[in-house]
Amino acid sequence: MDCLFCKILKGEIPSTKVYENEWIYAFRDIAPQAPTHVLIIPRVHVTSADGITAENSLYVAKIFEAIPEIAKAEGLTNGYRVITNCGENGCQSVKHLHFHLLGGRKLPEQMG
Ligand code: AMP
Repeated sequence: MDCLFCKILKGEIPSTKVYENEWIYAFRDIAPQAPTHVLIIPRVHVTSADGITAENSLYVAKIFEAIPEIAKAEGLTNGYRVITNCGENGCQSVKHLHFHLLGGRKLPEQMG
């Protein structure tokens, strides 16, 4: 399967690691849209939020358990935003479920 983030997980494409455990991997976005822009992905291929099921939702739970820890390590004491883009209308460009963790400045109120 030709998935960019699966290749990052396998180490075939370099990335800047921020956090990892048995279930998930977090790395810096290559084109940051805020002072902190981290992508958090499951270690299994799930195409998008639309592919979350009872079988793989543990990975999603592990992502959300790690977010406060990553945010703390990044110094995001004043809050942050977590986003996942899904499908064409959501402007998802990489078809491997990922959550953007954005912070380090006041983010725009508008999200859509
Ligand atoms: P999305 O548009 O929600 O699918 O987000 C995909 C994100 O992946 C974008 O913010 C890209 O900047 C980021 N991205 C693409 N290629 C890489 C890469 N090789 N390393 C890190 N981030 C990447």
